[in-house]
Formats: sequence, C-alpha cells, structure tokens
Amino acid sequence: MNTTLTIDITKTSSSKLAQTNFDDLKFGQTISDHMFIADYENGEWGNFRIEPYAPLQLNPANATLHYGQSVFEGMKAYKNDAGETLLFRADANQKRLNESAKRMCIPELPENIFMEGLLQLLKIDSAWIPNRPGYSLYIRPFIFATDDYLGIRPSEKYKFMIFTCPVGHYYSKPVSVKVESKYTRAAEGGTGYAKAAGNYAGSLYPALLAQKEGYDQLLWTDGKSHQHIEESGTMNVMFIINDTLITAPTTTGTILKGITRDSVLTLAREMGVKVEERFLRVAELEDALKSHTLKEAFGTGTAATIAHISKIHISGNDYELPQKDETAFSNRVLKRLDDIKYGKIEDSHNWIIKL
Ligand code: PMP
Repeated sequence: MNTTLTIDITKTSSSKLAQTNFDDLKFGQTISDHMFIADYENGEWGNFRIEPYAPLQLNPANATLHYGQSVFEGMKAYKNDAGETLLFRADANQKRLNESAKRMCIPELPENIFMEGLLQLLKIDSAWIPNRPGYSLYIRPFIFATDDYLGIRPSEKYKFMIFTCPVGHYYSKPVSVKVESKYTRAAEGGTGYAKAAGNYAGSLYPALLAQKEGYDQLLWTDGKSHQHIEESGTMNVMFIINDTLITAPTTTGTILKGITRDSVLTLAREMGVKVEERFLRVAELEDALKSHTLKEAFGTGTAATIAHISKIHISGNDYELPQKDETAFSNRVLKRLDDIKYGKIEDSHNWIIKL
C-alpha cells in the first residue's frame, strides 16, 4: 500500500530490543519501541505521528477515566520463513473498531488512517516481530476520550493509538469452564458486540468468583434466561455435537463478532463440517455431555486461536471432556489457520497483507 498519510516520525534513540529476552515473553508486558498516535479535534482526525513508546499525561478530569468512552482491538502479525511480515485480517479489525466506536459515541476512524498508521509502525518495529515458530506480534489499536470535562456527554476530543507486543508461543492448556447462571456479560440492546473497555471491567468479578471455585473461565449465558450459551471468557465458543459444529449467532448484539470465529467457520465449511449458528441451550449441552455426543468444545480468539475445553461445570456437576489428538477438528483447523498465518499454505481468502 502506498503511504498517502503524512506521519511525523520520531525514532527512539534507546531501543529496548537488545535488552529484551525473547525466551521469556509474558503476554502484554513486553512492549515494542514505538507507538502510532492520531488526535481527534474540531471534528477531524489529524496530527499523525509515530513516537517512542512512552507514558501519556492525563488530566484527572479525563472523560475516559470516569465514563469509560474507550474501545479497542486485538490482532496479530507474523513472520514467514523468509522473514517477511504477514498481517492477518487487519481489515476486519479496522471495521470492528468502527462498529464499537459507533456504539460508544466515538467518532469513526477512516480506514486509511488505521491501515497506514499500522503499516508504518510495523515497518519501523519490524525487528520486534519474532521470527520463531509459534511467535507473533500482538497489536493493540484503541480509541479513547480525552476531554477534560466531568459532564456526561460524548467527548469532543479523542486519541487513537496503536502499540505492539511481541508474544511467545501461546500454548494454551485445556481450560475448565463454569456455566454462569447469575451474572451477565451482555444484554440485548447493550454493548456486548462492541469491544468496549467497560464490557471487560464488568466481566472481571464473575470471572474471579469462578476462579475461586477452581475454574479457569466462565461460559457466559444470555442475560434474560441464563439458558443459552453465549461466549467463553473473552472468546467465542464452539461445540461439536455428533458431527455438527454449533456456535452462537451474532445477531442478538450480545456477542462479539470474533475474527477467529469467522475464520474457523469459513474453514469448517470448506472442510465439509456441518455448521449451525444457533444458540445451544444449557440443557442440550448437559444432555450431550451425559450421552457423550459432545465430541469437542473450544474457545476461539486472537490470543490462543483455539483453547480446548477439558471440563464444564453445570449447576453443581462437573463434566470432563477427553483430550483431543491431531485428528480432532479443533486441532486440524488450528493447524490450517497457523499455516495461513505463517504463510505456509496459499492464502486463498485474501486474509494476509504481506509487508
Ligand atoms: N469475545 C470476546 C468478548 C473477546 O474479547 C474476544 C477477543 N477479541 C473474542 C470474543 C474473540 O475475538 P477475536 O477472534 O476477534 O479475537
């Protein structure tokens, strides 16, 4: 892509790269040298710049701190064997950021600002994208309100920023999950489909209670009846009952339209798997667990791609699921997705931008 955006670039004079131990990367703690910033003022985005990663100065009256007008994205870039950078489905993240922004009364960000800012940043910090099997660069774009004003109204000023973190091989050990029957992540008419900061704050306490009971994550259910499975922790969730893959639809506005979810469903259909986008009732899930017709259960998300579920708790009962070998759909689709992301097989869906 040709750069048409004028971006002021200030490079760091003291790169952290040499001191970074790539053998010991903790998710979200190691941050690359630079960040992209744009400001929204007087009704337009401008002041595009790439600067050394550094703290921000905030006024205590900053609107985001009080009312949470903030949305974000999460995506990854990879290196292929030739050392080229491959960016996975960034266009989908760009669109979802704007859907989230709209819901939170945040001005939408034109596609070229997102993409050109991102591509420039990735070029400058290319050495931060690990060139090791299973490693990647996690990318965090976000927009937040910057008015210093305590009245409740949409802010007039915002910042869009992108910073990145090299991340190691995400070996996700199978997780235990508890079906949540009291708390709600998202209600119809609410903000569940938006990647809005407050959704995550609200989910922490119920998740903590489940962790205290010994479960890794929650299986969120619908807010009205708690009878239907929605998502798992911060992932979409899929079940294979007999030979059918079942996952919640994204039509109620309560579920985040996961990009991994969409990729897995696309590949599943191509692989000849029968897919049903419908709500799975908790009772149906319990029946399938009892009768052993539940073959696989897994979360899908950018961080882990696939997180196998090994135990499901439903109102007082724990059900164990057997470990999956490489013939399981979840492992076959994981391999295929990894092969696309690392450029090992043809990208027939146009999911990759090669820098
Ligand atoms: N649901 C929620 C609530 C999430 O936070 C995420 C992570 N972004 C997902 C699902 C998975 O989305 P994606 O596959 O785009 O990472």
